[in-house]
Parts: sequence; C-alpha cells; structure tokens
Amino acid sequence: MKKIFVFAFMALCLSNSASAQTYSILIKGGHVIDPKNNIDEVMDVAIADGKIVKVAKNIGGTAKQTVDAKGLYVTPGLIDIHSHNFFGTAPDHQYENGNLALPPDGFTFRNGVTTVVDAGSSGWRTFTTFKEQTIDQSQTRVLAFLNIVGEGMRGGYEQNLNDMDTRMSALMANRFKKYIVGFKVAHYEGHDWSPVDRAVAAGKAAGDIPVMIDFGGSQPPLPIEELFMQHLRPGDIFTHCFAQINGREYIVDQQTQKVKPFVWEARKRGIYFDVGYGGISFAFSQAIPAAKEGFFPSSISTDIHTGSMNNAMKDMLTTMSKFLAIGMDLKSVIKASTSNPAMEIKHEELGNLSVGAEADVAVLNIRKGKFGLFDYTGRKVETDKKLECELTVRAGKIVYDLNGIANPITIR
Ligand SMILES: [Zn+2]
Repeated sequence: MKKIFVFAFMALCLSNSASAQTYSILIKGGHVIDPKNNIDEVMDVAIADGKIVKVAKNIGGTAKQTVDAKGLYVTPGLIDIHSHNFFGTAPDHQYENGNLALPPDGFTFRNGVTTVVDAGSSGWRTFTTFKEQTIDQSQTRVLAFLNIVGEGMRGGYEQNLNDMDTRMSALMANRFKKYIVGFKVAHYEGHDWSPVDRAVAAGKAAGDIPVMIDFGGSQPPLPIEELFMQHLRPGDIFTHCFAQINGREYIVDQQTQKVKPFVWEARKRGIYFDVGYGGISFAFSQAIPAAKEGFFPSSISTDIHTGSMNNAMKDMLTTMSKFLAIGMDLKSVIKASTSNPAMEIKHEELGNLSVGAEADVAVLNIRKGKFGLFDYTGRKVETDKKLECELTVRAGKIVYDLNGIANPITIR
C-alpha cells in the first residue's frame, strides 16, 4: 500500500514538473498574432479558469478541449467600438430600444468579435434600460459610449440641444464606470459646436474619458480642422473617418487626392480615426487614396445595424478584409481591431493575449478565392483573400466553432 502511495506521489510530482497540466482549452499550432505583445508566429495558447495561462511553442499537457488551429490565425477576440445594440420593440424608436439595433450575441461570435461598444444608442435617460435589456443579458462583453442626448438615438430627438446635459451625462458615466467608456455626438444638424463641447465637458467631468464624434449633417459643413485642433482633446475619436457624404468635410482632398495636411497634424496631436463603416459612411474614394499615402485607420469598426449589415458593410471581418484588400497588412488590421480600440476606450486589459487576461480569442482563416468587396456607391475592389471566423472563445468558453475544429466539440 505504502509503495503504491509513494509511486503515485512520484508520478504526480513528475507530471507537475513535466507537462501534464490540465487546461480547459488548448489551441494548438495556430499562427498567433497578438500585436500588443509583439507576437507574430506559430504558437500554442493555453486557457484555464477563463484566463490565458500560457502562450508558447509546443505546450504540453492535457486539456478538456483541444483546438486544431494549424493553418489558421489566432488573435485576441476582436473589439468593435462602433455598434448599435439597444434593440427593442418600441415603435419608431430607431436605435434606442427600437428595431434598427441588433442583439449582440447573434452577430458577434460568428465574426470573432468578443467585445462591442455601443456607439451612443442610449443616453443618460435610457442607459439603465439598455443595461438591463442588453448588457446584462449578453454573453458578448457590451460597453457603451453614452449619447450626449439624454434620450439617445431616437431619431429627431438627436436635434434637441435642451436634452444635451453635461452634468447628468457625467453622473451616469461615473455611476456605471464599468460599462460607459465615453460619450458620443451623432447626427446633429445645427451649425454650432455645442453638442461637441458638451460631450467633451462631460468626458472631462467623468474622469477624462473619450468622446466619439459622428460628425455630420450641418450645411455648410463645420470645418473638421477646427474640430480636431480646437474642440477635441488628444484621445478623442473621429468615427466614419472615410465617409464621403454631404454635410461633412472629407479627410482626403478631392482635388489633390491627398490626405489634408491638418489631418496628419491631428493624428500627431492624438486624435483617433475610426472606421465606423455603417450604411453610407465608408467610401473607397476616400479610403484608397488615404491608404496609398499610408494613412490607415486607428481602429476598424462596423457601425452595425439592420441597414448596414445587409448592405455593403456586412460584418466586422468583411470590413477588415477591405483594408487588407487596399494594402493594410494583416498585423496592422488585427491591431486596429484588438489592442488599438482597447487603448482608445482606455480598457487596455482587453484586446491582447497576455497571461492573466480574460480568455477572449478569435481563430481566423484567410479564405482564398475570388471575392468582390464593394462600398455603398457601388465601387468594387476585387480580392483573392477574405477573413473568415473559424472559432471564438469568450471568457474561456468556446462560443462559436464553424467547422468543429475543437475536440470534443462543445459550444457554451
Ligand atoms: Zn453609428
């Protein structure tokens, strides 16, 4: 009996010192791209207790589930910082508790997205409903830019200056720090700076959190140089940066086909340029000349809603594939969809595969074939590469597996 015990004890010691640690998930043989940690090579990723516990070559040991990622890319779970998820059934409420918004889990995991930031669908009057209905009910991590309009994105309400309350907005953000990462200005058509200035004031009052500007609608357009240089702070975010629509000044000069000099200056000053693709807020006529000069977005995001997802935008990976197609390299595309957006929203614990980080992981494939990627104007770019999501891990659990590459196959 004693002999058996000693033998068992020795075996236990050996297994611990060698490699027989048990993980919950072991992702084997994939090409890891983790821009924050400067990893860009074939490695294994081990997950236990919902966290990343090891990223190294040839990790031994056993796991409850093993993922065969050979020939695939393994990246941090993607972060989409411009989405619309305050879905509901209130008639004529648009993106605020209305039917133009989407339940996140239905559209995130199949695209490798593990975190979304709702871009101003709710305001201080409506945020608690959004939290109860969506944030608390979703497996996707849902954060929010709070609209400076108290009511949120309920159509005409967005023009109501009287409902843009700096103090109440900041109060709400301070109360829900865990979820509210900044403020949003959207769709305002008046020819004045009040909404921007109030959002920035709220950002300062809520602990220096950023604002995201969906700038547009005023005629003639307000000058974006003044926006970048005088009204915004370093760290604020200009979304829809490749838009070419009426009511908004473009970043690429139509005459010279060059990025305007002050846009480069703004980037140096610390203004972030976010894609926010949306229905009509991305045009190749802006993005391609910018790409030719090496001006790529700080963050890639979808502005997903029921309109954009069925039009040119479609989803996060299609949007990322467009940047690949116009010359942005894969590592930069991944960075703009993981660690960069995490930095912009000041949640740098997200968007990386550091040991100890919550295990949000995307396993991506680059499909080879003949693909047409078009924008809302009908301009098409042909490409032979398109990103596809093979598997998604959220908080240490497999939540999506396209081809059953996990063994055993269990989705939770
Ligand atoms: Zn939007």
